[in-house]
Amino acid sequence: MKVIKNALQMQKIALKHLRDGDEIGLVPTMGALHEGHISLLSKSEKNDDITIVSIFVNPIQFGANEDYLKYPRPIKKDLDICRKNHVDYVFVPSVDDMFSQEHRTFVEVQKMQDILCGLFRPAHFEGVATVVSKLFNISYPDRAYFGIKDFQQLKILEKMARDLNFRTKIIPCPTVRERSGLALSSRNSYLSEEEKNISLKISKTLKEAVHEFRNKDLNFVKKNVLNKLRKIPNSRIDYAEIVNFSNLSIADNNTKRVVFAVAVWIGKTRLIDNVIMTKRSKG
Ligand code: AMP
Repeated sequence: MKVIKNALQMQKIALKHLRDGDEIGLVPTMGALHEGHISLLSKSEKNDDITIVSIFVNPIQFGANEDYLKYPRPIKKDLDICRKNHVDYVFVPSVDDMFSQEHRTFVEVQKMQDILCGLFRPAHFEGVATVVSKLFNISYPDRAYFGIKDFQQLKILEKMARDLNFRTKIIPCPTVRERSGLALSSRNSYLSEEEKNISLKISKTLKEAVHEFRNKDLNFVKKNVLNKLRKIPNSRIDYAEIVNFSNLSIADNNTKRVVFAVAVWIGKTRLIDNVIMTKRSKG
């Protein structure tokens, strides 16, 4: 496994693999790797000749009052995990290398970034789309792996890749959860034991919504979820919304495939989760 700290060097290496006919897989991460990340890089291991994992806490996707400075950065542990999982290259650029003082170009995916998390984190998805397009241009991936856990991010990046003619195929990967149901996240390390116990209510509530969705009206399902989330102690809801699976527009009872996405603060930690629900056709 090679650790590459410089974008130009990474680009040269990736280009050489591309010319040699190797298929390249990219797993973009912000580090503090857990089983969710490992599921992504294992998929790349299976599909691709070369797996590149990027570890970069991207400053431009954090708002002014968010957790950029305190975001966990256990780089030694992350490299061990990558090594154990047969990653070929870990790309760990510096902030200056990725975003010089003169950086002026940003990627905006209109409409899809103006709802759900985008309403509460205004510059977030522009930051994500910009850094991911840079990573695509640096590593020439045939495939790039993203978690369904960050559903809005996944959909925005699929749209970006299509609209901007990137050669990269976006591969969605299922959410990895603790046995308790809590979706794994690097931010779970902020939670106290008590907060972690409380957080389980989020995934439990969404799971129950999947059952209700089969035979109940959409608004009923939504109201029920909101009522249950409101009862979680020490919490605050940013949103609980049912959207169209394909384009993230607000769903109605005729939408066949929907995503119920929520963002809830537990104490000082913001957690997101979602479930995908499909209406069975009648008859
Ligand atoms: P992050 O390091 O949080 O930026 O995440 C890097 C990638 O891992 C993103 O594509 C996430 O959607 C994905 N990811 C994060 N948590 C999980 C999880 N619990 N299960 C599957 N994928 C995840």
